[in-house]
Amino acid sequence: MDFEFTEAQKKLKNEVREFLETEIAPIANERDLKGPLTREELVGFIKKLMPFGYYNGMVPKEYNGKGLDATTMAMLIEELSRVWSGLAASIWIASSANMVAVSSPYFMEKFLTRTQKGELIGCAAITEPDAGSNAASIKTRAVKDGDEWILNGSKTWISNGSVADVVNVLAITDSGKGQMGISMVLVEREVSPFEHRELHKIGWRAFPTSELFFKDCRVPDENVISGFGGTGNQGESRSGYKNMMAAFESARSTMSVLAVGICQAAVDASIDYVRQREQFGRPIGGFQMVQEMIADMITETDASRFLTYRAWQLIDQGKRARLESSIAKGYACEAAVRVASKALQIHGARGIDENYAVERYLRDARSLTIPDGTTQIQKLVIGREAIGIRAFD
Ligand SMILES: Cc1cc2nc3c(=O)[nH]c(=O)nc-3n(C[C@H](O)[C@H](O)[C@H](O)COP(=O)(O)OP(=O)(O)OC[C@H]3O[C@@H](n4cnc5c(N)ncnc54)[C@H](O)[C@@H]3O)c2cc1C
Repeated sequence: MDFEFTEAQKKLKNEVREFLETEIAPIANERDLKGPLTREELVGFIKKLMPFGYYNGMVPKEYNGKGLDATTMAMLIEELSRVWSGLAASIWIASSANMVAVSSPYFMEKFLTRTQKGELIGCAAITEPDAGSNAASIKTRAVKDGDEWILNGSKTWISNGSVADVVNVLAITDSGKGQMGISMVLVEREVSPFEHRELHKIGWRAFPTSELFFKDCRVPDENVISGFGGTGNQGESRSGYKNMMAAFESARSTMSVLAVGICQAAVDASIDYVRQREQFGRPIGGFQMVQEMIADMITETDASRFLTYRAWQLIDQGKRARLESSIAKGYACEAAVRVASKALQIHGARGIDENYAVERYLRDARSLTIPDGTTQIQKLVIGREAIGIRAFD
């Protein structure tokens, strides 16, 4: 197995890092502390970063995308996460609008011009107040009424929920069919308005996260689709739940690569610091217990990176990565908490000072162990794959 980036990938990585260090890193900390990005701010960042492949990287070239492979896209996300993981996460979720826009002639007509300009923000709404890890227990329901569906229910912890133009809502469309009766309903905010309430969290402060309320929300029939980037009004093909579960493989691998970016940021900041901070008449990097912390951080970062890119390579090869994406997500997100926590310790009191980025790394890492399946759920997926017995249905 080859984990070496190609020369083209290395060149892109260097160019992106230089740009991000100059344009994004200097503002990241201060802006993140101010809370959720507005839609205008997010679109502004997308436009700034699109030339490198953020937002439209995996869109085929025939639709004016970059046509990047998944591994290169992951590398870009890692780099942005290294300077501002909340922005990296927000842009990644926003980019889901592209999958919808290229999924059928109907959606192309509607959305392609806006996605090509980086002006359509997407998000996915699965979680509900009473349906978290058990996504199949959702209550949100869409009922057919002539040429429309009437959507009722509420969703919570929805990334980009307050700024999204299009929301992929997981809803029951046929209650007699169990999981097969669950569909993705694409709600366009302008066409089918709904209310939202912003949630405030320990980390990823600038990354909007919201509750969404759908009350007799009327959605055109064409918008009931089969999954993320579904086929658009395909009649019988409305098994959104199964498609959502498959989409979790790339979602979990994305959480892992965000974690790797935070780990690398924590390692880089700590190495710089221990070289220049002096105590007892010498750099603290000369003390063995400090070196041990650095060594542990580097080892966990490397392990996370290898597990993560293995999952991305499988996705690039068109293979299933159910086990590998769960191993990567479960390990890397917990490792990011440990690595960022050591970075705080290494920085002494400065580690908990909001004026330095290090405390943000720990707060952001703490958010990663929950979405797209908690660490415990990843372990149950690994256990199921290994043992062949399901701990839950
Ligand atoms: C930052 C952030 C962003 C998010 N973005 C989105 C989004 O864009 N869209 C969306 O739909 N959702 C989103 N979520 C929601 C997220 O997917 C859920 O929070 C997650 O699935 C867990 O659900 P819960 O919070 O209800 O916890 P619960 O499911 O109630 O779990 C609580 C605890 O019980 C444990 N637990 C539950 N079941 C089991 C089990 N069978 N065995 C062992 N332990 C178990 C869990 O591991 C956890 O420790 C986001 C969450 C966060 C924190």
